[in-house]
Amino acid sequence: MQVRKKTDVVIVGLGWAGSLIAEELTGAGLNVVAIERGAWRDTATDFPPAVDPDELRWGVRRELTQPMAVETLTFRNNYHQQAAPVRNWSAFQFGWNVGGAGTHWAGMLWRFTPWDFEVASRTKARYGNQYTQGLQLQDWGVSYAEMEPFYDRFERIAGASGQAGNIKGKKIDGGNKFEGPRQRGYPTPALKNTYWMEKYATTTKNMGYTPFPLPAGNVSQAYVNPLGVTMGPCTYCGFCDFHGCGNFSKSSPQACVLPPLMRRKNFTVLTETEVLHAVKHDDGKTAKGVKFITRDGEEGFQPADVVVITAYQMDNVRLMLLSEIGTPYDPKTGKGTVGRNYNYQTCSTVQGYLPGHRMNPFIGGGAIGVQIDDFNGDNFDHSGLGFIGGAGIHGYSKGGGPIKYMDNLRPGTKRWGSEWKKGYARDYQEAVTIFSQGTSMATQGTYLDLDTNYKDRHGQPLLRVTFDWNDNDRKMLNHVTDKAQGIMQELGAEGVKIRRETDEKWNPYSQLSSHTIGGAVMGADPATAPLNPFLQSWDVPNVFVVGASAFPNNGGYNPSGTVGALAIRTAQAIHQQYVKNPGKLIGA
Ligand SMILES: Cc1cc2nc3c(=O)[nH]c(=O)nc-3n(C[C@H](O)[C@H](O)[C@H](O)COP(=O)(O)OP(=O)(O)OC[C@H]3O[C@@H](n4cnc5c(N)ncnc54)[C@H](O)[C@@H]3O)c2cc1C
Ligand code: SF4
Repeated sequence: MQVRKKTDVVIVGLGWAGSLIAEELTGAGLNVVAIERGAWRDTATDFPPAVDPDELRWGVRRELTQPMAVETLTFRNNYHQQAAPVRNWSAFQFGWNVGGAGTHWAGMLWRFTPWDFEVASRTKARYGNQYTQGLQLQDWGVSYAEMEPFYDRFERIAGASGQAGNIKGKKIDGGNKFEGPRQRGYPTPALKNTYWMEKYATTTKNMGYTPFPLPAGNVSQAYVNPLGVTMGPCTYCGFCDFHGCGNFSKSSPQACVLPPLMRRKNFTVLTETEVLHAVKHDDGKTAKGVKFITRDGEEGFQPADVVVITAYQMDNVRLMLLSEIGTPYDPKTGKGTVGRNYNYQTCSTVQGYLPGHRMNPFIGGGAIGVQIDDFNGDNFDHSGLGFIGGAGIHGYSKGGGPIKYMDNLRPGTKRWGSEWKKGYARDYQEAVTIFSQGTSMATQGTYLDLDTNYKDRHGQPLLRVTFDWNDNDRKMLNHVTDKAQGIMQELGAEGVKIRRETDEKWNPYSQLSSHTIGGAVMGADPATAPLNPFLQSWDVPNVFVVGASAFPNNGGYNPSGTVGALAIRTAQAIHQQYVKNPGKLIGA
């Protein structure tokens, strides 16, 4: 077994979280080794503009996501069932290779609301205990106000585009008036609206709602980020989600962080090398490094003073369990913390057709859309509704890839021959979709653990997901989808189709979101969270676990803005506090 030279910090996984942490820590002078199980990926060589729009390769065959032959997971709806391995990705599209899922993400770059971080205490304060029953609600141990500077830093690194709605408490027309106060606006202006976006904005405004452009990691103009990286303006090419960006316009680790990071002498990356688990010292109190295996099957050990796990939400939890860091959660007693509060997101689509309109959907981008937040989070009065939470409701122009759009046909359209061709030509132009992306709250029975039957190619147990929708999810989604349907009606659409995820039992094959969360959650109480509010293990203080695994509940937004902000906050806590005084950053 090869034993490498000791380093200050080893990082497991080099996606958004890993690269942001590596940047911050190497900038502070620490030696960092990152270990990534996928291969090296670079914009110029892997996604040049002639390769990036290959819809079959990236959008359909999903070459950027983790192959199932490498690893899968098992799932079941409740713990009385036998879990079975997932054979095809839908709900989960894990990142793979340097850049992780941050290479092929869509780019919607949100901040969670102040309520999301304090969901338990704010819900009790506003509605009393009745709405929290049956849900496993807990605060994050950090407030929106504490997170704000780190959101700001991530938005600057990513070159985010958008229209602020609340700067230092002053509400701004055209932005999201419901957002938490921000210290300043976005680094680049909002992207331009497509024709469909204009229609969605006008219609929702006339209905009394507050439309605003999606905050995007698709940058709207040439931009130099604080690390000195230059990004070019988005060309609205439409091949964005599941694709890399050949124009250096979509924020990603490759576009925004890795160029300066790779030049630093105190940074090393080992690619095509998989971490099997962290290894603890004999007394079990701290970790001494990580055990890994190379592509050629050679095992090795990387000693380190600090271990940071940034392997995406699912693998973060699996690595904690495999490393025996923290106590596994038991859904029967509610005791133990690792695996607790696993959760998903609650989404629906309302699709319709606007006769005689030309949407030209080939003009688009991963985060080009207009949203209303009037029914998101706790932005509306839930009294008497019987649920908490809500969803952002947006119309989007993600890009009209010709293969992807083959499913966008009016009900009843023939699927072959000349009628199909005529129908496709018409519906390609006339189809529009309204997407509701909703909150989700955990229950005692939703959790992650190690499967007792199935193992991966290295002989380690697969992760097992136990999850199903709860009543709160169902009631919330019914309410919000009715609002989305109302907007579609107002638009005068015909052939309206509604898809509500919660109408069926949860399964990993037909979901509308890839945003899984929880399992290694943060919190001020070690009885209900394996990590403290700096994402430091309560039990093994030189281990930090960063990603959406830390969220105890899901917001009605995409997660990466919050993942990035938490990563920068953790990295600062490591070099400003932990390194100077190794030990628990917070007493329990
Ligand atoms: C199609 C798609 C669209 C998305 N769109 C959006 C969006 O618009 N907005 C948004 O906010 N979020 C979006 N997301 C989610 C977003 O991509 C993730 O939240 C984000 O990338 C998570 O960053 P991360 O660093 O935690 O994990 P990742 O980016 O997944 O990085 C983790 C890395 O760790 C590596 N790894 C895992 N296990 C090991 C191991 N044992 N040893 C070594 N390496 C390991 C993986 O190969 C990977 O490279 C999208 C996701 C998908 C799939
Ligand atoms: S839509 Fe814009 S950000 Fe997305 S891949 Fe095309 S140019 Fe890049």
